[in-house]
Formats: sequence, C-alpha cells, structure tokens
Amino acid sequence: MSDLTPETLQGFDFSIPDDPALAEALRLWMFRHASAWEADRKERDELRRRVIERLERNRELNAQIEALAKEIKVDDELLAERDRLLDAIPACEAHGNRCVPHAIEWVRAALAAKEER
Ligand SMILES: [Zn+2]
Repeated sequence: MSDLTPETLQGFDFSIPDDPALAEALRLWMFRHASAWEADRKERDELRRRVIERLERNRELNAQIEALAKEIKVDDELLAERDRLLDAIPACEAHGNRCVPHAIEWVRAALAAKEER
C-alpha cells in the first residue's frame, strides 16, 4: 500500500471509510500529494489571474483602438475638406493640384487684386 498513485486509487471505493488500512493509506497518499495539489492550485490561480489581467488589457486596448479610429475618421473628413478647398483653386504650374504654398499665394493675389479694384 506504500506505492499509491492516482491510478491504484481508482479501484478503491471511497464511500466505505471503515477500512482502517485503506483510510491510513489514503491519508498518507493525500499527505504526500498535498504539496503537489497546492502547487497545482497556485499555478491554476496564477494562470486565472493572468487571463483576467490579459482580458482587462485587451478591453483597454480595444477602447484605445476605438478612440483612435474615431480620430482618424475626423482627420479624414478634415483632409477631404482641405482637398475640396484646394481643388477649387487653379493648379500650381510646378506641382499640379493641391499645392498648399501655391494656394496661399493664389488667395493672397486674389485678395490684393480685389483691393486694387
Ligand atoms: Zn506648387
């Protein structure tokens, strides 16, 4: 009875506790394996803690992604507005459409011409 393992214990009927030899063997086996069970429990608790931590981190990251996606949407709308404005101005001879320095010069020239009139 000194070499009890989970396999050899499988055949025993634990519902009959009035076998002193079996009860003692079971007690010894449990004592020997108690530290292993405790280690398993600690490992499982640690894994659970890490899973919860990871899930919380994922939730935070998803919230950040959502916020960044909203910012990108606003930026895209602003860029589209800017392009609409630049497209309303004649193209730059050197750089073509949407040349900002040319657009600034073009607006200044238009304003100056308006004041001269
Ligand atoms: Zn230009």
